[in-house]
Amino acid sequence: MSAPDRPDPELEDFLERFRLSPRATADAITAASDADGADIEFASAVEERLSLWTDHPVSITFDPTGRCNVVCEMCDFHRVRSDQGWSVRAMPQLEPEVLERRLAGSTKVRQVIFSGGGAEFFTHPRWPELAKIARAHTSDILVITNGTPLVEKTRERLLESGIRVIRVSLHGATAETAEGIMRGARFEDVKANLAAVVALREARGASVPRLQISFVGMKKNIDEFPDFVDLAADLGADSVTLSSLIEREAAGMEHTVGQSLVHDAPRLREIWQQARTRAVVRGIDLQANEPYRNLVDGGCDLDDEPHAPTAKGQTKLCLFPFEKPFVGINGSVGLCCSSTGRNVEMGNADVAGFDAVWGGSNYVGLRRALLRGEALPDFCRLCPRVPNVTPGTMQMHAALLLARTTGRPRDLLGALAIVRHYPTYRRETTALGVPRVALRSLVKAAARWVLGGRQ
Ligand code: SF4
Ligand code: SF4
Repeated sequence: MSAPDRPDPELEDFLERFRLSPRATADAITAASDADGADIEFASAVEERLSLWTDHPVSITFDPTGRCNVVCEMCDFHRVRSDQGWSVRAMPQLEPEVLERRLAGSTKVRQVIFSGGGAEFFTHPRWPELAKIARAHTSDILVITNGTPLVEKTRERLLESGIRVIRVSLHGATAETAEGIMRGARFEDVKANLAAVVALREARGASVPRLQISFVGMKKNIDEFPDFVDLAADLGADSVTLSSLIEREAAGMEHTVGQSLVHDAPRLREIWQQARTRAVVRGIDLQANEPYRNLVDGGCDLDDEPHAPTAKGQTKLCLFPFEKPFVGINGSVGLCCSSTGRNVEMGNADVAGFDAVWGGSNYVGLRRALLRGEALPDFCRLCPRVPNVTPGTMQMHAALLLARTTGRPRDLLGALAIVRHYPTYRRETTALGVPRVALRSLVKAAARWVLGGRQ
């Protein structure tokens, strides 16, 4: 990675905080991060298999760059950078050669996502090379973008890149609202770019990239959400996601406090119903992410049990440590995007190697803690991002996921061994609106295993 001359200690701190500074030595990581997770003791073979979690392919997110060409008011990365007047050009980037090394291990990859704090993928001068390397491991590549760089030349290269999905951040149905939230973006230009991507795809008879649009819902823009669904449909989007605002109390981000719709669940539900009606009429897929999803679909209110700190006999229904690692530019493997867990570092892929971190004691120990609901670290215990369930539900969910992935008799038998939890799993996931692993998908997986790749 090229390392520009950066004499400013505050900038150094900033880059470290956002996991952008390159790691120099192994001393920089916690001692336990690459220790072998197989040394941990387990109560049963099922618990061991679910904690080691070796056969489930990951959806891995790479931070591609520290550069973004706009400044959003809910993005602490860019607020700080912009307020400090630091040059975008001084921000580092992920070099394709580094990405190649990180993906060279034996961990199976289901999906590669390019996204990160303050990262606009298409400002990376070598982004087609990043996409090409990712393509060698999976056809499922998702890029988060603000849509502003998708000018004609970029659109042409995008069509050739094989990127499966672009997920565009846009936060208003009117120029005034959208441009007020995302400073530096021109609403009309973004709309024109997105429509042109879809038109080019259609003209070429291509099936990708698909267009998804993400709208961060806040008190100040939520009233425009139903109209936004219509706008997305007009632009040719396949789906709209209502993303939850994460409030931040950090200096420079105080304006986000009180803007989350978790403080006004009835209003959120009312707007969601209007948006859903439009989505059905326009044939567009409508999603929400946690915690808004539970509020609109699960019938839960703020401070209702599902998102409160765990009580005795509870755990979090969370798959982040099972399938979603985040890798910063400096190789730091981050745990999740919860407000409590987002700064938790699990190890360093460039020092220990990604496989060693994914199978190391930090991950294995945390998986075991979530499965048991015991010895949960505070960042998980207090986490508002995912709901509370009984440990049996977490175990059943993980066991069924693994069985569905492998189709192997031993994993199916593993799920069967804890089938006593199934009624509770069914009841709790229904109450929370969480999709269950369908039993027919297990039958299909077993058939695949019998007919084909027995391993
Ligand atoms: S587009 Fe994304 S990375 Fe850029 S400022 Fe907005 S939220 Fe941050
Ligand atoms: S902090 Fe929350 S989202 Fe992150 S791993 Fe723990 S329970 Fe999951």
